[in-house]
Amino acid sequence: MKGPGRAGHAPRGPAAAGPGRSGHAPPAPGADWPAAAPDPGRLGDGGPDDAGGTRRWHAELAWLPGSGVQRDVLIEAAGDRFTAVTPGVEQGTVPAGTVTLRGLTLPGLANAHSHAFHRGLRGAVEADQGTFWTWRDQMYRLAAVLNPGSYYALARAVYAEMALAGITCVGEFHYLHHGPGGVPYADPNEMGRVLLRAAADAGLRITLLDTCYLSAGLRRDGTPKPLRDVQLRFGDGDAVRWAERAAGLGADSRGMLSPQARAGAAIHSVRAVPPSQMHEVMGWSHKFGAPVHAHLSEQPAENADSLAAYGRTPAQVLYEAGVLGPRSTVVHATHLLREDIDVLGASQTSCCLCPTTEADLADGIGPARALAAAGCPISLGSDSNAVIDLLAEARWLELTQRLASRRRVHFTADELARAATVAGHACLGWPDAGEITPGALADLVTIGLDSPRLAGAGLAGVDPASADEAVLASVVFAATSSDVRHVVTGGRDVVRDGRHLLVEDVPAELAAAIRSVLASPE
Ligand SMILES: [Zn+2]
Repeated sequence: MKGPGRAGHAPRGPAAAGPGRSGHAPPAPGADWPAAAPDPGRLGDGGPDDAGGTRRWHAELAWLPGSGVQRDVLIEAAGDRFTAVTPGVEQGTVPAGTVTLRGLTLPGLANAHSHAFHRGLRGAVEADQGTFWTWRDQMYRLAAVLNPGSYYALARAVYAEMALAGITCVGEFHYLHHGPGGVPYADPNEMGRVLLRAAADAGLRITLLDTCYLSAGLRRDGTPKPLRDVQLRFGDGDAVRWAERAAGLGADSRGMLSPQARAGAAIHSVRAVPPSQMHEVMGWSHKFGAPVHAHLSEQPAENADSLAAYGRTPAQVLYEAGVLGPRSTVVHATHLLREDIDVLGASQTSCCLCPTTEADLADGIGPARALAAAGCPISLGSDSNAVIDLLAEARWLELTQRLASRRRVHFTADELARAATVAGHACLGWPDAGEITPGALADLVTIGLDSPRLAGAGLAGVDPASADEAVLASVVFAATSSDVRHVVTGGRDVVRDGRHLLVEDVPAELAAAIRSVLASPE
């Protein structure tokens, strides 16, 4: 199978591309490519295009760039982009066919750091004794048994869960490249293509962060420890061979794999890629203008290894290897020296924090406010997918800073919402997404305000003039993924009234996929 496939959206507007497919069932483990996506004809309940191909939504409340929360917002799109955004339009005056969005509508959420298959460990590892490193051993046991068929089924269900949580774009940090023993599949990018197809079929935009992963760690003299056992599935031998394989994904000159997918690069970490190999990855990324991500200083042991081997912290190693910059993102950034923060900020490197995973794995609390003050855009990721809830990540970004400092309000609700939307999209190579504004990609997520969690939002103790603004704070600090009612990606409905329109029964597919993977023989 060549090419990453297409989004499973209804081919209704001018941006639709690719052949239609119909009749879908999850593939059996071990199966090759999955069958087709569901019948896109079912997507016709989101409001018709008018004769000019314009779709319209009327948002009771919408969070708009530069003007905060506005009331009665008429939002129009043609193809996959917004064409007009007009606050103060009374509902009774909107054109026929306009879809009503009750609640607070935000831009689509961007999950900037995911390892889809880790979802299979949810509940199995959180309560165990042990450390990050014993958790990693359990993760490796899961990685050992995945094949293209089971990975597709699991990833599609996980991405469908993300869509239900309001996520319209995912950055998949992908390193499970090869078959058992490190033997490449007939198509060496088969596992990457599985993820591209899974995202498309779940209605998500994706940046496939193809990860260079060469060694199991560092010896004190700086020589790399060779990969072994399941780690052999991650490695390409050296960065030149990584770049050759990644080029086989077929990105165009702008790094695009399809209108809904782009290629990115990742350096797994300073432990897994020697500095001498990093320039090859950076050269590949510069060629395509592609984002580059790297895990950074998640655990103190990584810093100790780096200092022993190179006499430098991981951030300093990345800086000297030319990895940092506005197109680069470091993930976690937990254990940093002041000099590390300065070099990350001065280079305008993005920092993706994953607070629920960092808490689960007892990583520590990164200096998020100091990084933002130094000039780093802050984005958010679900990482291990033990929780898939970007609103939870956003509030825990703030709450962990409060716990660490015993002071309140490091990030405003507006800043936290930007981390979950525009900053996440930008660090994944989609600077034209994450804001409800003409010209941007038409992604929307509507949070219902009628749940017990959010009833009364905007009423408590605030000046009536700022009551609508307070709704954003209520959503950021109290809403959960369960409050997501509607999701639009690229102008097309993916979730309507809490129901995924492309994946019939997301919980059943998750359960079946996880059961199947866990039952697989090693
Ligand atoms: Zn990660």
